[in-house]
Amino acid sequence: MKVILHGTRGAYPTSTPDNQKYGGDTPCIELIHNDDRLIIDAGTGIIGIDWNQYDPTKRLDILLTHLHMDHIQGLGFCKPLFDPNREVHIWGPGGSIYSLQTRLNRFLSPPLFPVVLRDIPSQPEIHELSNTKIELGPFTVHSSFIIHPGPTLGYRVTCDGKSLTYIPDHEPMIGRTKLYDDDSWVSGFDLAYETDLLIHDSQYENEEYIRKIGWGHSSMQISAEFAARTKAGRLVFFHHDPAHNDQHRSSTFEAFMSKNSFDFPIELAVQGQEIEI
Ligand SMILES: [Zn+2]
Ligand SMILES: [Zn+2]
Repeated sequence: MKVILHGTRGAYPTSTPDNQKYGGDTPCIELIHNDDRLIIDAGTGIIGIDWNQYDPTKRLDILLTHLHMDHIQGLGFCKPLFDPNREVHIWGPGGSIYSLQTRLNRFLSPPLFPVVLRDIPSQPEIHELSNTKIELGPFTVHSSFIIHPGPTLGYRVTCDGKSLTYIPDHEPMIGRTKLYDDDSWVSGFDLAYETDLLIHDSQYENEEYIRKIGWGHSSMQISAEFAARTKAGRLVFFHHDPAHNDQHRSSTFEAFMSKNSFDFPIELAVQGQEIEI
């Protein structure tokens, strides 16, 4: 299975020249196995996908972790959605008050967007997920609610004996900078346990996290501790803060790595990066 990181930036896209090394587009990743493909999140990164690689007669599945703007901003600009002959399925978290369809309608309707969801030519089918397992072609997808403001899912995708865990927005031990001793209290633990590749929220340094508790994001320290505890094989720091330019991101990462050692590789996500699992 191959993963392409099409968008790595949290909160909002940025195009300033000092902010491009790690990417300016918001979250979207693409999973590829032979001719089968699966997309997770529809941030502005989805606009960069090469749709020529897709068979238009095959169904297209897009999984959403949650409905914060940075994860759905590209949905209205996703080309296949506007092909009336295309079969499109959108999966995302159910809500306790409003359905996924109702919540998506709020964004895909005026005044925020000119076309209402029901008029989108592909007529995408909307499916709600919770703590669920589904099969999409060769991909087995486990979804589970994790800690982040509003209904939010993390995903673990297994294919050909290899696994990827994607939790781009996450506060696994809200209000703490140390993990709970009991694994069952750590949000997302089962999704990440012994995964081959963990793509995880690492937006802050610990000092920033202390000032932003409850905003839904992790520090690099928390993210690495989470990966160590869950025995992840490799960790990618994801959801870069748009307020941190490349120089800041590189220097805080280097400082973090020089003070800590882990028995698995850690790297900063780079837009366009392809990772073979
Ligand atoms: Zn986000
Ligand atoms: Zn979010």
